[in-house]
Amino acid sequence: MRTTVDIPVGAVMPSIDTVLKGQGIPGGATDDERVMALARKSLLIYKRLCQPTGLVRDISKTDFDSVYHGEGRNEAHTPLMDIYPIADSLALFAITVGGDVSDDIARLFEANDFALGAMLDTTASEGAEMATRFIENHYRQCLKNQDRFDSSSGMLSFCPGYCGWHVSGQKRLFEVLRPGHIGIELNASFLMQPLKSVSGVLVAGPKRIFDFDDDYAFCNACGTHTCRERIKAVWVQ
Ligand code: SF4
Repeated sequence: MRTTVDIPVGAVMPSIDTVLKGQGIPGGATDDERVMALARKSLLIYKRLCQPTGLVRDISKTDFDSVYHGEGRNEAHTPLMDIYPIADSLALFAITVGGDVSDDIARLFEANDFALGAMLDTTASEGAEMATRFIENHYRQCLKNQDRFDSSSGMLSFCPGYCGWHVSGQKRLFEVLRPGHIGIELNASFLMQPLKSVSGVLVAGPKRIFDFDDDYAFCNACGTHTCRERIKAVWVQ
């Protein structure tokens, strides 16, 4: 099943402290009124311009095999290749907060308004993260409605370009999901347009299958190790 998901603007509005943390301000709070004013202004612009929407499509493990292997450029051993063969359900997804926000970020940088441009860029990135959480919740609820997700189940999303899944995997993913339907296109460098978009696969199954270590060959070069927090979150789903 392939479903377009309307995402309310309120579901993708980051808090001001989230935006400030995203800007590298510890604790997400500052006494600098100039920075606070920039954050407030970026949130107002983002709220006016964002047009969040998403797309989700169930996919069998057999069909996902060809999506995952894509152009054949993945790392030899990845968490996703260990997890998806033993998962219960898979779905391709894409979300975007729309082109107008990305256009405005580009316009601000072109006008040398780097401070507001960077703040709006962070705001839109946080919004795109929230849209991804929204589509995860949507798919989780769909599975629950079909008795395919219970208290022993968990869900994680994986995206081409991360954790050993080569970014060129976007090509096959786009051929199958066809997110042009919601205004997301892929360029020759596998970059999505609008830029503030996310695509990947939602993987659902027993919580224990997501409990992987961060010791893959490419993890040494990872600056965030966000998988640690993401795995913890699986246990409270
Ligand atoms: S350490 Fe980084 S690259 Fe390695 S699995 Fe975790 S998030 Fe992915």
